[in-house]
Amino acid sequence: MRSMNDNEAGFGGLQIIDDGDAQTAPLAPVAPIAMEQPADATPATSGSSAGAHARVLIIGSGPAGLTAAIYAARADLEPVVIAGFVPGGQLMITSEVENFPGFPEGIDGPALMANMRAQAERFGARMHDLDVESVDFSGRPFKITAGGTQYTADSVIVATGASAIWLDLENETRLRGRGVSACATCDGFFFRDRKIAVVGGGDSALEEALFLTKFASEVVLIHRRDEFRGSRIMQNRAKTHPKISIEWNSQVTDVLGGDKIEAIELTDTVSGEKREMPIEGLFIAIGHKPNTEVFKEHLDVDDKGYLEVSEHTHSNVEGVFVAGDVHDHRYRQAITAAGDGCRAAIDAERWLEEQKDEGAAAPVGASEAVSLA
Ligand code: NAP
Repeated sequence: MRSMNDNEAGFGGLQIIDDGDAQTAPLAPVAPIAMEQPADATPATSGSSAGAHARVLIIGSGPAGLTAAIYAARADLEPVVIAGFVPGGQLMITSEVENFPGFPEGIDGPALMANMRAQAERFGARMHDLDVESVDFSGRPFKITAGGTQYTADSVIVATGASAIWLDLENETRLRGRGVSACATCDGFFFRDRKIAVVGGGDSALEEALFLTKFASEVVLIHRRDEFRGSRIMQNRAKTHPKISIEWNSQVTDVLGGDKIEAIELTDTVSGEKREMPIEGLFIAIGHKPNTEVFKEHLDVDDKGYLEVSEHTHSNVEGVFVAGDVHDHRYRQAITAAGDGCRAAIDAERWLEEQKDEGAAAPVGASEAVSLA
């Protein structure tokens, strides 16, 4: 994003597992972000019952998953990446990333992800644009079901990222895609010369508000407290932007409108007073939650649902590794997620080697190249 700058680069996750709470529906057909598929790329294999085995299976195709894929592929492990039905992670809904090293002029999020994907494929990583439906990590080989296909794997790297959190209001859900969105980059274009509101007080909200000033006539930032949580430089930019006004101590308690949003109900978090504000667009930017639903039965999660790692990138299940925002709620940057993906791939490679050395090796067929294409 224009605001993917300063001190942070944005997230490194992806929305692979639709837990019903993931991304916004676009307001109108939005030009899809092209993820170039190589000629020999394996198409999504929905409904197929064909099984396939991988030495390293990576779940997720944000910076963590794709960096893991690059490293695993270069280690001749021919990784399979279950990339998600909508691959690429959160950078796919980010415009300009200004702090990913190596791009002095910045780079668009989708372009960065397309580069990472092409780089992984160049070394033999196989991309399957499917959502994971279930996993069974109770024994080896691990079992992963995606798009109706069961995969088996000697080792797994979980890099499923995190998804947008919504306010959980009935009318917010009803009007999603009709003026309510969680993705300024996807939907901002539709709000040219309109008055819109952004909810939240962190970097995401500040970033979305600043981005939306490109289109909207007026952007109202609504925050439930009287100070922002976001970085100082982003705060200053938002506070001094002529198109941005701020409603402190305010919570959106209802979204009003028939076929499309017309207004919001705001409740003063100090006095409890309610009032209506006419707006034509509402962007929710109140944080993210980890995409860990399908792993909960097998992998340890913390009280917020993020995966726990024990040693380096190891999960509590030997042979299952973790990378990126799915466990990292501290840094949550594209570059840290990428670094994590690298670490997980190296850990997986070493662990596979150890298995071989110990003779406890991989099950039959495990050392074979993956025959998925
Ligand atoms: P965040 O820092 O957790 O901020 C979430 C904001 O939403 C907080 O201000 C919070 O209010 C508010 N909020 C949470 N639940 C709410 C609810 N139910 N109703 C109303 N408001 C609610 O999340 P984030 O902004 O997505 O950022 C996450 C991480 O990514 C941060 O480390 C951030 O620095 C980083 N990031 C960086 C960039 C960048 O540098 N360009 C861009 C995006 C994100 P309270 O403050 O009252 O808790």
